[in-house]
Amino acid sequence: MNNKTIAVMTSGGDAPGMNAAIRAVVRTAIHQNLSVFGIYEGYNGLINGEIMPLNRRSVGNIIQKGGTFLKTSRCQTFKHKSGRRRAANKLEEWNINGLIVIGGDGSFKGAHYLHEEQDVPVIGIPATIDNDIYGTDQTIGYDTAVTTALDSIDKIRDTAASHNRLFIVEVMGRDAGFIAQYVGIAGGAEEILVPERKSDLEELGENIKMWEKAGKGSSLIVVAEGDDLGNAHTIAKKVKEEFGVESRICILGHTQRGGSPSAADRLLASRLGYYSVKKFQEGEEDVMLGWQNNEVNVVPLTHTWEKEKKLDKDLVEMYKILAS
Ligand code: ADP
Repeated sequence: MNNKTIAVMTSGGDAPGMNAAIRAVVRTAIHQNLSVFGIYEGYNGLINGEIMPLNRRSVGNIIQKGGTFLKTSRCQTFKHKSGRRRAANKLEEWNINGLIVIGGDGSFKGAHYLHEEQDVPVIGIPATIDNDIYGTDQTIGYDTAVTTALDSIDKIRDTAASHNRLFIVEVMGRDAGFIAQYVGIAGGAEEILVPERKSDLEELGENIKMWEKAGKGSSLIVVAEGDDLGNAHTIAKKVKEEFGVESRICILGHTQRGGSPSAADRLLASRLGYYSVKKFQEGEEDVMLGWQNNEVNVVPLTHTWEKEKKLDKDLVEMYKILAS
């Protein structure tokens, strides 16, 4: 296989640190005497041929910037075989013989099918604030998102304590509770509600009474947006209706996606970007690169959505004891 030209793109949900990953891919590729192209706006840009050569200077001064300068998108056309064929034709037109996709498991599905059907060598780099990708301890963007959320939670605690209030803080996580669990523990929350565990309204009511009895001036519930009890609005309403307890809510929303990437995310993105080029040159394809147990982990792309990354159950007992 002639692997002299690669392309890099970002796809799906954006995450802080994507720029650092692009920078690492571009500079490593050039160091390895590969030509490198950037594809704009994810799979849409690939199908439409929005492809530009990148050099070392194209990726200057971006390591500290949130978002992705290549932009990202969601692309329905790519979900169809015909769309992926058009994408493969574009790659052939530009003589590109390897594709590095920075994104989440949706993007990896697309990349895998592109490989399977069109024989395009693809490598995935995990970037999503949700951290719900199997095969890597952390995904790019997660550390920044929890740092942003924690900053808000600390501020909420100040005001909650001044008024003896119950606060319900909603963080991102439609299907996964990694952000909620992490910031809940780090922010000293009394309760953490996540989609992976069944939440019980009666138990929550008893806990609220218990916190009052224990003399807690204020208390904090962190809920992932996809919890089975509902979002922060719904839970506040249920708690008022069932137990007569007033609460305040705060929805952190899209602030969690933005901002300058943390040092940990920049390092992770740099590592995975660097190794993606190295592994591509070693002939790896149809794989994602993760960082696990302090070393690079090469995982088949299919595992990233077929296998489940589990929340650490032991932490539940721990946070309850620590918040008592
Ligand atoms: P993420 O990569 O952050 O999980 P999405 O799930 O939105 O984000 O996926 C990003 C893009 O990847 C989609 O817009 C689509 O183009 C492509 N994609 C997602 N799922 C599939 C699939 N099952 N088959 C082919 N392409 C897919």
